[in-house]
Amino acid sequence: MKAAPQAQQRLIDLQELDSSLDRLAHRRRTLPELAEIQRLEGRLTELRDAIVAAETAVGDLDREQRKAEQDVDQVRTRADRDQKRLDSGQVTSAKDLSGLQTEIVSLQRRQGDLEEVVLEIMERREEADAKVTGLRDEQTSTGADLTELTAKRDSALQKIDEEAGTTSAARTAVAKDVPEDLLALYEKLRGQFGGVGAAVLYRGSCQGCHLALNTVDLNRIRAAAEDEVVRCEECRRILVRTAESGL
Ligand SMILES: [Zn+2]
Repeated sequence: MKAAPQAQQRLIDLQELDSSLDRLAHRRRTLPELAEIQRLEGRLTELRDAIVAAETAVGDLDREQRKAEQDVDQVRTRADRDQKRLDSGQVTSAKDLSGLQTEIVSLQRRQGDLEEVVLEIMERREEADAKVTGLRDEQTSTGADLTELTAKRDSALQKIDEEAGTTSAARTAVAKDVPEDLLALYEKLRGQFGGVGAAVLYRGSCQGCHLALNTVDLNRIRAAAEDEVVRCEECRRILVRTAESGL
């Protein structure tokens, strides 16, 4: 393949622009904000589930507390009733009186036990409330972090896009100076060799694979016409000669 030396130089300019675009695309994919945003979104999902569970626990404890308070009321009502009967003087049999007194004592003990139960439930309810509050606080701060990080990501992406836009426009202009067949070969090699299709021959070394060319190959390149498109024997990339090629 033949191409004017100036066209071959332009190919190196094109390669630099393409490499810049590749780096920008890589940076776009690997922005540190992306992983952090994903982590925060995961945490928010966990928090939503945890809040539902914690609120359900609060609701359950509310019901448990009401039930326990009803139990206390029931026992108290019965003890009051017994006490009234006792105070009324209508019960006269010693056996009945003694029975009533025993029942009152037993009901008072029972009431004390049930009140303990109510207090214990109230403590648990307080803990459950604190848990909901803690989770909600974390949800709020995580949401704020996410908003801030999303803005940071968007601004980073915008900068990358602007730079890519400028680079892309320059690339279009440079590509016009490269003949079609050379451009097609370059694109093919770029696809095969990690984005680098053309490299400069610098002081006897290919800047594509960074290997020093042997004397035979250097002599062959030295002998080649300047409009001959030469390739690196090691990596097969297009080799572009410059004043600093060491030929
Ligand atoms: Zn090479």
